[in-house]
Amino acid sequence: MNRLQITQGDITHCTTDAIVNAANTTLLGGGGVDGAIHRAAGPELLAECRTLNGCNTGEAKATKGYRLPCRYVIHTPGPIWRGGDHGEADKLADCYRNSLTVASTLGCKTIAFPSISTGVYHFPLTQAARIAVKTILTYLRTHNDIEQVTMVCFDKGTLAAYEQALAETEQTDA
Ligand code: ADP
Repeated sequence: MNRLQITQGDITHCTTDAIVNAANTTLLGGGGVDGAIHRAAGPELLAECRTLNGCNTGEAKATKGYRLPCRYVIHTPGPIWRGGDHGEADKLADCYRNSLTVASTLGCKTIAFPSISTGVYHFPLTQAARIAVKTILTYLRTHNDIEQVTMVCFDKGTLAAYEQALAETEQTDA
């Protein structure tokens, strides 16, 4: 079984143990997937987020899922693309690695990610997909506690980029 799955859909419908939120550093909600998660979770999510005092780019903090079907939401602010020479790639890898570490600590076995930073933060999609796939697969190789990671792509273009990144990685590893 492939422990990394790429799908198209709405992450707020995921019944995984945890979903990841592409948040901003205030953790007080925003647009895109962040707005969708807060709308679906209800106001209790924002109330818990207020107690967390924000989160640095690349780090991750968990809350409960409230009205969402998942148990936890793991909030991670992705890097804003500023041309590529401001550590954006490393920070994006940190988002995936640190979110998975938090999921492991909480005892999660299944976790769903959105495409972090490729919306309003404008991280180039092809590069972001390669970083995400590589970082997730590296983590899974050394952590058997996580059974399944799902990349939940909102649109067809995003889905194609992550499928391509996974196919490339499988070829390289073969
Ligand atoms: P960022 O600020 O990290 O760029 P965005 O929310 O703007 O975050 O976009 C990240 C990705 O999440 C984009 O591909 C966007 O289309 C996608 N997205 C938006 N809403 C949802 C949703 N409900 N489920 C999954 N992905 C979503």
